[in-house]
Amino acid sequence: MRCANGIEARQVNELFINIDPIQAGGRLTADAMKAVIAYGDGYSVCDNCRKPNRLDYINKPPIAEFHRDLAAWLNMDSVRTVPGARRGFQAITNTYVRKGDPVLLTSLSHYTEFLAIEETGGIAREIPHDADHKITADATAIKIEEVMRESGRVPVLAFIDHVDYQYGNIHDVKAIAKVAHHYDIPVLYNGAYTVGILPVDGKDLGVDFVVGSGHKSMAAPAPSGVLAATKERAAEVFRTTAIEGDVTKRKFGIKEPEMMGCTLMGATLVGLMASFPLVKERVKHFDRELENNRMVLEALLSVSGTKVLSEYPRNHTLTRVDTIASFDKVAESHKKRGFYFSGALEEKGIVGVIPGATKVWKFNTYGTTSKQARHLADAFVTIATENGLSLMK
Ligand SMILES: *Cc1c(COP(=O)(O)O)cnc(C)c1O
Repeated sequence: MRCANGIEARQVNELFINIDPIQAGGRLTADAMKAVIAYGDGYSVCDNCRKPNRLDYINKPPIAEFHRDLAAWLNMDSVRTVPGARRGFQAITNTYVRKGDPVLLTSLSHYTEFLAIEETGGIAREIPHDADHKITADATAIKIEEVMRESGRVPVLAFIDHVDYQYGNIHDVKAIAKVAHHYDIPVLYNGAYTVGILPVDGKDLGVDFVVGSGHKSMAAPAPSGVLAATKERAAEVFRTTAIEGDVTKRKFGIKEPEMMGCTLMGATLVGLMASFPLVKERVKHFDRELENNRMVLEALLSVSGTKVLSEYPRNHTLTRVDTIASFDKVAESHKKRGFYFSGALEEKGIVGVIPGATKVWKFNTYGTTSKQARHLADAFVTIATENGLSLMK
């Protein structure tokens, strides 16, 4: 089946159980798929744009109401939609970071955080993780003191990932934010793996910004994301334009430079909005997701030699495992080498494990039904026994 010549109709999530870490939380709802078709045309959300002419003021479709609901749901004062979490980071670094400014992030930070700092000429200073791959408030305090000693400067911003992309560990943002605020450092909560997955309360966490990813965790089309701020910080990041043309004397009203005026248009925004009711509901049932993750991880750990590298028991469905002493042993002598593993999974209707990976790899059971989780668990055990690996008693 083809969309057009040379473009196959993708059927991954229709035909397989997909445990790709970055894809599990972004799969579209049926309502988002309808929105993609209905609002695919360029500037389609602008049909009913009236003065003061800004995206977040449009009432039909209910974009203004969506912004209010979204801010309330995150317990923040203002929110804007952005083309991906990374563009949220960029708006914040553009506002606060100047050449040579130290900026805090962590040894588990995502590359997009580094790039957002790099663009402004800031200096990346990583808070190291501890032996359990956790970022702590103590390590944050030590790092701030170190930066001050070495540069004579207080960091101008701190990026803290609530759940990191490497281990899927939960970090104590609330305690870290408290330390950062002691030094008047604004805190950017990176919720790429939490907003749309877990309940997030920005005020309770005590953060200045909440950034989320629509296409990673809110069942929305790419590129989409959210950037929420406290009242005080909203006045800075969502400041309005002041520029004026010298010939025409034109000014541009309430357009916001960091947002380039209007941000998400068409299918991305309406897709994000269409999934929102389901997303609000699903964050209340994360316990079911953890139960499915437990079922799959226990099956993997029942294969002798398999280790879990993420915190255990799990608090998130994104999980990193080490199968050097189990599935990788088979790869050493298998004619397909490491590809036997992803190949055998695919034969059982499972995709999302990096083809060829048998040493250290990640999976995300988010969004599976308990029946699918059972199938995943059985598949890993069957592949192990079929290849002569032993099971723990
Ligand atoms: C995926 C991810 C991002 C980037 O999100 P986009 O919405 O694709 O820009 C940033 N930070 C973390 C921790 C991530 O996992």
